[in-house]
Amino acid sequence: MRPPSVDALSKSLSDIDLPSPLLVEAARIAISNDDPDSARDEALRLQRALLGPVINATGVLLHTNLGRAPLAYQQASQATNLEFDLTTGKRGSRIGHAANLICKLSGAEAALIVNNCSAAVTLVLAALARNRAVAVSRGELVEIGGGFRVPDVMAESGAQLIEVGTTNRTRVADYQAAHRLHDTALLFKVHPSNYKISGFTEEASVAALSSIGPPVIADLGSGFIDEACHWLRDGRPPWLRDEPAVKQTLESGAALVTFSCDKLFGGPQAGVIAGRKDLIAICAKHPLMRAFRPGALVLNALQETALSYLRRDGDAIPFWRMAQTPVSDLEARARSLGVGNPTPTMSMTGGGSLPGEEFPSAGIEIAGDVSEDLRNADVPIIARVRDQSTVLDLRTVHPDDDAAVAKAIASVT
Ligand SMILES: *Cc1c(COP(=O)(O)O)cnc(C)c1O
Repeated sequence: MRPPSVDALSKSLSDIDLPSPLLVEAARIAISNDDPDSARDEALRLQRALLGPVINATGVLLHTNLGRAPLAYQQASQATNLEFDLTTGKRGSRIGHAANLICKLSGAEAALIVNNCSAAVTLVLAALARNRAVAVSRGELVEIGGGFRVPDVMAESGAQLIEVGTTNRTRVADYQAAHRLHDTALLFKVHPSNYKISGFTEEASVAALSSIGPPVIADLGSGFIDEACHWLRDGRPPWLRDEPAVKQTLESGAALVTFSCDKLFGGPQAGVIAGRKDLIAICAKHPLMRAFRPGALVLNALQETALSYLRRDGDAIPFWRMAQTPVSDLEARARSLGVGNPTPTMSMTGGGSLPGEEFPSAGIEIAGDVSEDLRNADVPIIARVRDQSTVLDLRTVHPDDDAAVAKAIASVT
């Protein structure tokens, strides 16, 4: 029998919600594999390769592979005052809006929004230390993940890395010596977001470094904005006891801090440079700023997140809502899914933040590894497999998705 034509085969897939060029591609692949019957699977494969929603049942709140902080966001198809000052009717600046709100939250004099924290660090180093020395502790020459390595970023930005101290102990005197010898432009501290050095250790505080002379830059990464946690009902949670906050780091003498917006800040992917006005102005004028600046979509989503903080409404920020949900609520939801008793689980923040910090959670456990079946659900469900069973942690599942989870479980058990 002759194989069907690409045209006929692709038309037989028209119930799949894909534009016809993609259905044609699926048909072509199937025919060239001498397996026309596989055309439907090929089309579904193309559909699943598109960016789309998933249900995060891993218990990892900021799952790097699942887009870190989840965020609901809508924007009408309208013009915005992105670079227009409504008071004067003249050209305005896109570095107001969200940046001003972040100043309010952090007490910073000024702030600049870029695409991510890596861009923030790169811009700071390029604008303030090109062809100059920058002192960094040997214990903080970190790789953050995705190939973001502090020594490489330094080299790329044109700053000269001066390593000070040792892997486990670095003292103020080490930075002082480096400053005397190399006339350092900056003293750069990197928060070890994704690893822990314990045992015989010592590090120099931002406060101590700020008396040496050069501006102290603290790359905080996580975006934990204020120790006071005014946006949480019960104040600062125990798993955040050691996390340095933006506001307090600036108060203790950092000239600038840099952080991600999609980690503990719970906003969209963006990066912030916040602190001294004169230094922010230099960064803002650097040619890289043009390449690093986010668009109105991101700035708007970031503004929404910042407004929720100012309203002290942590529940409006999905990350904090997940983090704050009492275990008893999760257990009740697990029971209502109708598949036996809740299983105790441990959630973690993830996203390269707070290594080793876990907190109690609850979910459901299914015998055997059904993770692939769950990924094939209408809205794919991502679960963890431990000891030959599949565990769904409900802390990271939005309650609106419980029905979809129940349906998927029913079909795999
Ligand atoms: C996460 C992190 C970065 C990188 O942030 P991105 O927003 O992913 O670019 C840089 N520095 C520190 C300390 C971090 O924790």
